[in-house]
Amino acid sequence: MLIDVHAHLDFKQFDADRDEVIERAGREGVVIINSGLGTTGIGNTLDLIQKHKNVYATLGLTPTEFKTDEIESTIRLIRGSRGRIVGLGEVGLDYYWIKDAEKRREEASTFSRFIELSRELKLPLVIHSRDAEEDTLRILKEEGITALLHCFGGSPEQAVEAASEGHLISIPANIANSSQKQKIAKAVALESLVLETDSPYLSPVPKTRNEPVNIKETAKKIAELKGVDVSIVEDATTKNAAEFFRLRLP
Ligand SMILES: [Zn+2]
Repeated sequence: MLIDVHAHLDFKQFDADRDEVIERAGREGVVIINSGLGTTGIGNTLDLIQKHKNVYATLGLTPTEFKTDEIESTIRLIRGSRGRIVGLGEVGLDYYWIKDAEKRREEASTFSRFIELSRELKLPLVIHSRDAEEDTLRILKEEGITALLHCFGGSPEQAVEAASEGHLISIPANIANSSQKQKIAKAVALESLVLETDSPYLSPVPKTRNEPVNIKETAKKIAELKGVDVSIVEDATTKNAAEFFRLRLP
């Protein structure tokens, strides 16, 4: 069994064949953690977990959302979904899209609220950090929180340091074509790695739609880089993810 710790199967790219994609993953032994974002994404993700046994949910908000109404409604919906979800996220900081200092402070203040919420609900955090690794890791350290760092974009050295602080480093399916991701997967011990697709994005084949079953290629690639059998990568990453999300697997 493999766990895709981060996917967006509720996105419109799957409107034509969503159930098929999820069932295909199920047949291949892939469990999906769907990341439902904002009020619409949360509603659709809660529907998905009700319908499919191999789908679990984390709920969060994209860091580039600044509308107060949407932030408040999202937090309210997450509180109300407590017993049905396995984590919070993605939430975090995005400095790639947001360059303005004042806006970045707003991002940080919303991020703090989700950190608070994760403490209140006792749910683990899935972090989105784009070009903001230093600030993200500093905030998590100050808050004394260990988290899952989705699609880690920092340097291999930063990844190793984050792992030593107790964070999980998530490797996406585009490791097939990313030397940065390959270096990170090589540098970080298996005890700190998990796998994701970020479907529909980050496909192993550029410009195609990604889907959870591709996680098998990620496991293979990591096994090749580390010179170990693929079953060792599968077992370790599945164990790490199941423990982090406290999953009761089928
Ligand atoms: Zn995502």
